[in-house]
Amino acid sequence: MKKCIAVLAGDGIGPEIMREGLKVLNAVSRRFGHTFEYREALVGGCAYDKYGHPLPDETKKVCNNADAIYFGAVGGPKWDTLPAELTPERGALLPLRAIYGLFANLRPAVIFGPLADAASLKSERLKGGLDIMIVRELTGGVYFGKSKVKSLILKDGAVQGDYAVDYMIYSVPEIQRITKVACEAAMKRNKRLTSVDKANVLESSKLWRKTVIDYVQKNYPQIQLNHMYVDNAAMQLATNPKQFDVIVTENMFGDILSDLASAITGSIGMLPSASLSETGFGLFEPIHGSAPDIAGQGKANPLAQVLSGAMMLKYAFGLSKESDAIEQAIMSVLEDGYRTCDIACAATPKDKILLTSGMGNKVVEYLE
Ligand code: NAD
Repeated sequence: MKKCIAVLAGDGIGPEIMREGLKVLNAVSRRFGHTFEYREALVGGCAYDKYGHPLPDETKKVCNNADAIYFGAVGGPKWDTLPAELTPERGALLPLRAIYGLFANLRPAVIFGPLADAASLKSERLKGGLDIMIVRELTGGVYFGKSKVKSLILKDGAVQGDYAVDYMIYSVPEIQRITKVACEAAMKRNKRLTSVDKANVLESSKLWRKTVIDYVQKNYPQIQLNHMYVDNAAMQLATNPKQFDVIVTENMFGDILSDLASAITGSIGMLPSASLSETGFGLFEPIHGSAPDIAGQGKANPLAQVLSGAMMLKYAFGLSKESDAIEQAIMSVLEDGYRTCDIACAATPKDKILLTSGMGNKVVEYLE
């Protein structure tokens, strides 16, 4: 298979971890006989420095002509004081989501068995690791509804103070398309889907629940569907996360629950994500930021970037076998005790603590 990949490494540790991500993709192409053509482009602070905008036209052109976007991380203190629309995240990442209609955010919360002791929950609750897929709706709900702030004027003309409104809006087609993505994910896993809402209070959630039930019954009767209010879902994630397979939820609930799920896993440097459009075009990136505090020191864990590449192979190119091979190589590297600083513990022997490039090389070695 031949694919063209837009490579947007970004700022901070972005270029360091992207180097390792590409090393691993090259190993996949050697082992499985694929051709990946990389088109590199600037994004974020480095793009602003060169072109005066964090998402320059040159970069959009590269993305327009690619089969997928492989993204590192953007941002850093140098660009924090720019006007909001020129900051790396607001000026590059959000427009990329809007331009390519990336409405479905897939965030696996995975703990590889050998890292269960490093997680924030007691290891008996995570025995054998953890593997949840959170599917978050990314372009609707309260973050995209109209909002306003106004002064509340009483009948006698007195100003009582400001009031603010944010509209949480969802339509049936929006709910159906994210449910379809979640069902497809569930079908490739254990066929269990939990839909999270607040249907005891919110009208948008009542519509959400009814639409999910109708859609799953009609199109995916093999899937075991259950429903949970968001407050209970947070409690269940924090106490008994292994009960979940795939979770589907709206934008804001997904924002909060996916951060909670990643906190449970205990290692931000291990977690990838995919943001997909209706046509299957996607942006694949680690969930962490540009980590300016460790940039340039070779200490960054590249595995979230590598796993984002594995998601790209699976979801954008349909290369599940190749994606699984990357995950298996990482599992073997971890089982053999190799760690980067962020996932090492006091008992890790010094010669097993690897720098960014050492970890990339190890994954390649186990993959070949
Ligand atoms: P961060 O995720 O960059 O870092 C948080 C902590 O985690 C830091 O201590 C960092 O050293 C550590 N860390 C992150 N990734 C790591 C890795 N791969 N290996 C080892 N340790 C790792 O979050 P932050 O410090 O809040 O933000 C830094 C910059 O990143 C900001 O400018 C922020 O706006 C930006 N940011 C970008 C994205 C993105 O590009 N999608 C996401 C979040 C934050």
